[in-house]
Amino acid sequence: MSLNRLPSLPDFEQLSDRVWRVMGLNPSSFCLQGTNTYLIGLGNRKILIDTGEGELGYLPLLRQSLKTISPDAFISDILISHCHHDHFGGLSDILQSDLNDPILPIRVHKYPLSLDSHDHHFHMDGFPKDAPLEDLHDHQIFHLDNDNKTTTLHVIHTPGHTDDHCCFWLEEENAIFTADCVLGHGSVVFNNLSAYMSSLQKLETLAPTRLYPGHGVVVEDGVNRIRQYQRQRLERESQIIQLMRSEKPAHGGHWTALDITESLYGSEMSTDLQPVIVRGIALHMLKLQEEGRAKILDGSTFNQMEMYTMMHKEWCYIEKSHL
Ligand SMILES: [Zn+2]
Repeated sequence: MSLNRLPSLPDFEQLSDRVWRVMGLNPSSFCLQGTNTYLIGLGNRKILIDTGEGELGYLPLLRQSLKTISPDAFISDILISHCHHDHFGGLSDILQSDLNDPILPIRVHKYPLSLDSHDHHFHMDGFPKDAPLEDLHDHQIFHLDNDNKTTTLHVIHTPGHTDDHCCFWLEEENAIFTADCVLGHGSVVFNNLSAYMSSLQKLETLAPTRLYPGHGVVVEDGVNRIRQYQRQRLERESQIIQLMRSEKPAHGGHWTALDITESLYGSEMSTDLQPVIVRGIALHMLKLQEEGRAKILDGSTFNQMEMYTMMHKEWCYIEKSHL
């Protein structure tokens, strides 16, 4: 999405009694206005969700933001939503700074990835090796504040964008920190569409009023935005099926992911986003393959690690009556 069409977000903003957003200062076509990082909690003890990309100005901004909230505010825990660098790149700077008390060090939490996973292979090399990492698990609960006024954060494992992706449900506000599962603008890039759809379903079940996304503005009508994402994916799937059931316009024959992308997007596609869009279409086709509704003509199996080859493979749709 073009950056200049997005509303600008202040570097630091209080969003509710319990939530403040601190910008990662890394705007780009992928990160929109930059990565949103969030400080959470009513008292001096705060949890920080995500740490930005490691931009020079982020640490001073975070320090100043804590001081503005309260002179004694401190970070006890950092939750990393997933293994992408724009969400953990600022971690080392924070851990090496005066924000990290040597007596009571900050605890860092992230959902574990298996060592042989695609995500581990491509993304975890840059993760600080010396970070005192504790594994998150689904349904884990973080309690902050005291008996009368509590703040309760529930971990929801939401794979799809990445295998380790987690959202965090703030019970007292019925709000969800959605990281890269649902954004403030535009659509999401995913690794595994079936898993992504199940994750959206998990979030929809909570019927959240508000979403605090990893990029972009706060979403006020949370449950409807989640349903909109679900609808978009299903509509895209039916468009792809429709094309696969038809003849290709130019020379006939069977459709490739690249043909389908060009047919659906035409000239609207910006060149830097084209590979990402083709990949998204190919992953839709992988979901259909997993469900036995489509197959690659030469009998090979879709392999995400060879995306360039995959986008040129010819596919055919398997009619239900043939199943
Ligand atoms: Zn991401």
